Amino acid sequence: MRIFLCPTCENQVHFNNTQCVNCFSGLAYAPLEDEWAALGPDNLGAWNRECCTNREVIGCNWLREIGDQSGLCVSCLHTTKIPDMSDPTNTRQWARLERAKRRLFYGLFKFGLPLAREPDGIEGSLKFEFLGDEMRPDGKNERVVTGHASGCITINIEEADDAIREKNRTALGEPYRTLIGHFRHEVAHYYWDKLVVSEDLKNACRATFGDERQDYGDALKAHYANGPRQDWQQSYVSAYACAHPWEDFAETWAHYLHMVGGLETAYAYGINPKPTRVGAQHLVQLDNPYHVSDLEKLIEHWIPLTVAMNAMNRAMGLRDYYPFVWTPVISNKLKFIHDLIEAQ
Ligand SMILES: [Zn+2]
Ligand SMILES: [Zn+2]
Ligand SMILES: [Zn+2]
Repeated sequence: MRIFLCPTCENQVHFNNTQCVNCFSGLAYAPLEDEWAALGPDNLGAWNRECCTNREVIGCNWLREIGDQSGLCVSCLHTTKIPDMSDPTNTRQWARLERAKRRLFYGLFKFGLPLAREPDGIEGSLKFEFLGDEMRPDGKNERVVTGHASGCITINIEEADDAIREKNRTALGEPYRTLIGHFRHEVAHYYWDKLVVSEDLKNACRATFGDERQDYGDALKAHYANGPRQDWQQSYVSAYACAHPWEDFAETWAHYLHMVGGLETAYAYGINPKPTRVGAQHLVQLDNPYHVSDLEKLIEHWIPLTVAMNAMNRAMGLRDYYPFVWTPVISNKLKFIHDLIEAQ
């Protein structure tokens, strides 16, 4: 993400701020323009556009689009189900999920990826449901499963609880589990449906990730029963990617978004580590990592950044920033994602 400045005083503004910490102007972000507006005393009037109604409820700091009738910003508009708000814990968790979702949308807009939202009930439009487990009358727990189906992304709100997410991460033996990671993974399934439509693309996708026509339910069951194949690290970015070609596609897609978003942020802060190979020189920063035709260039810049960031985290006793290893097979999969997004 790039660095934002307060339109009133030019102090740095962070993506989730609703107010400037220096001049105390109320602030709102216009996502499609990628600009900040200072609000008038009544929190209205920025460019004659109103703030998202969810500003008061969950601290959403985005402006509504011109002509909007819903009262919501373009991100909140895509959320069609929220948890029971009579419980303040649910409200906090929903707020965290929307924060991560706005960061997802920021990246999607930068890539110029289509974000269709048709009226409710139409199969295939992008929707988000943030739901919690519920106790049934028979005393059994109705479990909400995080996942994607026909353009609807469901996230169990417990994932917004750090302690629970960490417990889930350890139980599943994952090196990385975050809200933005969930969003970048799940939205990949939506874009698979939307973008991998021609027979040529489907065949190229099969040649890269495997045949997605194998039964999804059976494949997942087998994955959880037997674990990933022994040599998964050679060809998959994560153990879960082995579960089914759709999951491999989604995991690789998420990593592509991590990489480009990470590079944009590093450049904004002037972080440009030297490649670790002998005699290497600093690389010249890429103008706009969201639109680079040569994937090799992105990878060439990303690898030294992850090495440096891992070292920084270890210096603070934290887990690795980027606990993944790439191989030529994985780079080839990234190439498919890169070309698919570039074509948009
Ligand atoms: Zn300011
Ligand atoms: Zn909003
Ligand atoms: Zn998935």
